[in-house]
Amino acid sequence: MDSTIIAPKPSTDTLLSNILAALISIQEDQTKLRSQVEEYQRATSTEDTVEDKIAAASSATSTHLSQSQQYSDRIILTTYPGQMGIKPIPLHWGVTDPLTRGPVVVSRHPSSIKRRNAIGAYGGSYCVYRALSIAIGALPANHIPDYGLTAPPVSFPPQPSWTGKAIVSMDPWGHMVPQLWGKEIQEEKMDLRPSIAITKAHMTIPEIEGAVQAGRLKVDGNVVLNAQGELKVTKAAIEPVWYLPGVAERFGITEGVLRRALFEDTGGMYPELITRPDLKVFLPPIGGATVYIFGDPSTIPDTTVPLTSRVHDECNGSDVFGSDICTCRPYLIYGIEECVRQAQEGGNGVIVYFRKEGRALGEVTKYLVYNARKRQEGGDTADNYFLRTENVAGVKDARFQALMPDILSWLGIKKIDRFMSMSNMKYEAIADANIEVVERCPIPDELIPADSRVEIDAKIAAGYFTSGQVPTEKGLADVKGRGWDDIQH
Ligand SMILES: [Zn+2]
Repeated sequence: MDSTIIAPKPSTDTLLSNILAALISIQEDQTKLRSQVEEYQRATSTEDTVEDKIAAASSATSTHLSQSQQYSDRIILTTYPGQMGIKPIPLHWGVTDPLTRGPVVVSRHPSSIKRRNAIGAYGGSYCVYRALSIAIGALPANHIPDYGLTAPPVSFPPQPSWTGKAIVSMDPWGHMVPQLWGKEIQEEKMDLRPSIAITKAHMTIPEIEGAVQAGRLKVDGNVVLNAQGELKVTKAAIEPVWYLPGVAERFGITEGVLRRALFEDTGGMYPELITRPDLKVFLPPIGGATVYIFGDPSTIPDTTVPLTSRVHDECNGSDVFGSDICTCRPYLIYGIEECVRQAQEGGNGVIVYFRKEGRALGEVTKYLVYNARKRQEGGDTADNYFLRTENVAGVKDARFQALMPDILSWLGIKKIDRFMSMSNMKYEAIADANIEVVERCPIPDELIPADSRVEIDAKIAAGYFTSGQVPTEKGLADVKGRGWDDIQH
């Protein structure tokens, strides 16, 4: 490096005066902003109030709501720390006692806004639909949920992993919010919402019925209830809650870099990421995950009880609609069948389903890639599988499994006897979380749809686990998917 371009180190005095100048400028900005907001409020109150305008707009589409059911006429900005009356409830992430840890408060309801200790909104990606419901007058802005009768039917007690840094992307106490902070919700009317919900259900899947008919699974009246392959399941829905210092550490970056990227690439949607370094928790507007448990959930942390597990990332086209360009649904169903078998043998089966569509790049990117794969010279071949994704998205995979093991840690999993995945990224992330994987189980060849050979061979060549042969470069070029001519629309 050319030493002449390095600026001399500023003295402590220069640094302090720079910081002081920055603080004065922030203060001036804030005063300016406050007077602008007040001016706006004065201007609107001489004509219609904001509420009148919203109510007038909503009355055209829905039931007319009174002013008291909409937002207050003062817009409270919480952008800068140390504002008058703003006193976040202390949040001590990773401590053992939940009451010392404190509730995650992210709501801007009048009873909660001054005590907010998190950035973002409850509800993951659905917060936007909730806002829309309020905007059109379908939902009162001050709605207070009734959590009576909603408690989990199965106990998910605290695990040692709930203390410390093993969990940084969800709130381990998220299913117990109404129970732990009932006083705050009922007496202080605070808007605290659960970020985890647990329930029990039955499920039927045609392939599982097929497995029963073929004699691969037996009816036991407990896990498999009947000849139609009806399964008994306990399930948990989980919304993301990110502890930013912990998330940054997991990816080996600074909290500042993480905050800046989240701010910039959500269109500046959350200024508090930049201006409120005192708020360490962020509820991102992304999809969450669902856990499906076959067997007795209370024995999951017991390492003497065998556990089969698959961690699956959403692929709507295959999972739900049966697209045959990838192995997603066949592998998922194979995972479920093996989980059910393990539960029938006295163990447990755990499927974790993440909303990370199209390698967390989304379905639009995915379809663009499908088109490019089919149109490229030589057709859709395994050797160019990742290249096409990189050309469109700039990155071949955005799932970055580093946060994934949090859910396994939340369940108290320390060992997976049979891991139903070939992904090296998932395997390495689980190993980094100090969870032992005894056996890795690839998808059996007979379950791989012909057109998805391109995907699976490319993945194996890139490092996915296989008990068979790793394809050579020449071999990959020979693995070819369906072209346009084969698809009749
Ligand atoms: Zn797929």
